Amino acid sequence: MTEVNQIIFTFITIIFCSSAFATPANLLTPPLRVIIDPGHGGNDQGTSVQLSTQLIKESDLTLKLSQKILKIIQEKYAEKIQASMTRTTNRYVPLQKRSSLSRSEKTDFYISLHYNSAFSSALSGTEIYFPENNKIDDRNLAVLDAIKQDLVETGRIKQSLSLTKIFVPHWKSSQVKIRRAPFYVLEKADAPALLIEVGYLSHPEEQKTLLSDVHQDLAAESIVKALLEFKENRDKQLN
Ligand SMILES: [Zn+2]
Repeated sequence: MTEVNQIIFTFITIIFCSSAFATPANLLTPPLRVIIDPGHGGNDQGTSVQLSTQLIKESDLTLKLSQKILKIIQEKYAEKIQASMTRTTNRYVPLQKRSSLSRSEKTDFYISLHYNSAFSSALSGTEIYFPENNKIDDRNLAVLDAIKQDLVETGRIKQSLSLTKIFVPHWKSSQVKIRRAPFYVLEKADAPALLIEVGYLSHPEEQKTLLSDVHQDLAAESIVKALLEFKENRDKQLN
C-alpha cells in the first residue's frame, strides 16, 4: 500500500469506525438521579388504618410504593433514571439524614411519599407539595452570596413546580391539589423536591383504593412516567 493509499485507507477507517460506533444523542445525556423517600419508618409509623385485626401503617405503604417505583425503574429504565431510596427497610431515618442525602449524592430530584389522614372523613384526593423559598432566611450571607443563593433556590423551586405540572396529567387515580408548604425535607433538600400525599386513608372509599395493589402499581407507573417526561424535557435543554 502506497503512503497516499494508506492515508486514504486510515481516513476511511476512521470515518467508518466513528459512524459505526457513534453514540445516539439520547445516550449521551446523563441519567436523571432521583432519591425516593418513603415517609416515616421504624417507631415513626405515620398515620394508620385498623382493618379488623390488621393495623396498616403509613410507613409500610410508603415503603411498598417506593419499592414498586424502584423496581419499574431498575427493570425498564435503568439507563435513563438512577434511583435510590432513603430507606429500604422498616427503620427510622431522621429527617436531617433524609434531606442530607440529596447533598452528599448529586441529586436531580428528591421525592418524598406519604399517605394522608384527617379528622373529617370527607377529605379525599392527592396533594403535591413543592418547596417555598425559605432557605435564605436562616443563612447569614453577604449580599452577593445571598443573591446567588436566591437564584439557585428560585431555579430549584421552578424545577419542582415543573415536575408537579408534568405529574398531574399522568396521575389518573384521583383529583390532584398542588400546594406549597415548608416541609422540612422539602426545604432542606438541595435538589428540586416534591412531597406527594398519595391520598386520604381516613376517607372510607379512597382507603379501599389506596390499599389495593392495582392502585399502588398505577401510582408507581404514574410517578415513573412523570420522571421520564421531566428527563426528556431536561435533555432537550441540554442538547
Ligand atoms: Zn406522612
